[in-house]
Amino acid sequence: MDGKKIQHTQMQHGIIGGERQEPDGLAVYIHFPYCRSRCPYCDFFRALLPRVFDEEALLQRYADDLAYFATLCGGRRVTSVFFGGGTPSLLAPQSIEHVIGEIGRHFKLDAGAEISLEANPNTFEREKFLAFRAAGINRLSLGVQALSAAGLKFLGRTHGVDDALRAMELGAAAFPKFSVDLIYARPGQQWESWQQEIDTALSFGLKHISLYELAIEEGTVFAKKNIRAADEKTSLTLYKQTVSYLRERGFARYEVSNFAATRLDECAHNLVYWRGGDYIGIGEGAHGRIRTAGKGGSTLSVAAGGGSEIWAAADGRLSERLLPEERAEELVLLGLRLEEGIDAEAFYQACGIKLFDYLSKKMTKRLAQLNLLCYDERNIRLTDKGFPLLDEIILELVS
Ligand code: SF4
Repeated sequence: MDGKKIQHTQMQHGIIGGERQEPDGLAVYIHFPYCRSRCPYCDFFRALLPRVFDEEALLQRYADDLAYFATLCGGRRVTSVFFGGGTPSLLAPQSIEHVIGEIGRHFKLDAGAEISLEANPNTFEREKFLAFRAAGINRLSLGVQALSAAGLKFLGRTHGVDDALRAMELGAAAFPKFSVDLIYARPGQQWESWQQEIDTALSFGLKHISLYELAIEEGTVFAKKNIRAADEKTSLTLYKQTVSYLRERGFARYEVSNFAATRLDECAHNLVYWRGGDYIGIGEGAHGRIRTAGKGGSTLSVAAGGGSEIWAAADGRLSERLLPEERAEELVLLGLRLEEGIDAEAFYQACGIKLFDYLSKKMTKRLAQLNLLCYDERNIRLTDKGFPLLDEIILELVS
């Protein structure tokens, strides 16, 4: 949905906050692959919603996938559910309720589990917000992307600024946890107009906001048309200004693109991915990571099967045991995205390799001398200076 593109249970409105997933915890991702139109910047787009759409058949496939995963890890405690896509808000609220019920049939769904839905601000979807809430959704992530007519037009969005304002009003009122996605580094974008967009979004009382840098990804309509994002220097300046502006307003960056007012407002589901926790992916193209045994035990990667079908049927699932080094690399790639960085003990538990045996010692020291990261025996994390260079730093550390 965002186009660019994770316990101790502390409760807020009965929902788990940003605490670390407990060892038996499991996150469940439900993938809805269809959209009503294709946004030109999006490399997540898979297919247009068919004119005649068999939602019953899709629900059956979700049920089959859940039953399959239940054979691998059934009965485990589910701490979060995330309906993503694609545009999962095209689903009927009854379908969402049905899927949540199916999850509860195979797993122990925590009473306080965070259950997120990605949605667009268009009329058809926002009219269903209250019904989504009644169906069990307690966190809405709204793909606003821009709050200027010119910005929305450039991004090829089918909603207008008024739609976005109305949807934010409804979303903020209806859901205990509510977040807005915006995209910056659009060509020609200046700080003043970007700041106004942030201010408008925050005026709805948000406690969480995701701000993604526009990247022109291969295969997108923008790439084919040779459209360029703002230049690197402008993007970097906008990013730094954004981080400090949000800090002044009481928001902490907890992940490179995600900001929250308190730890309880963080997205518990996405924190599971970034911290290397266990999750399963239900639906076409979705994959999972499940730790199978004890200390440093192997991690099972379960992915969609091959072939030309858009849907990976449950019996087409492929599973493989990840090598400790493969797992270690993933953990670094994901963990350094977090402000809290990587916990050395959690890293060892997840892959069986000691964090500072895996990372290049020479490079770790050097990057620390350059004030790009800091570390001690328990943790490594990037500094403010290091965050904008995340990709480059990861390459240095793991190569
Ligand atoms: S709505 Fe647009 S941004 Fe979201 S997944 Fe579909 S094409 Fe991508």
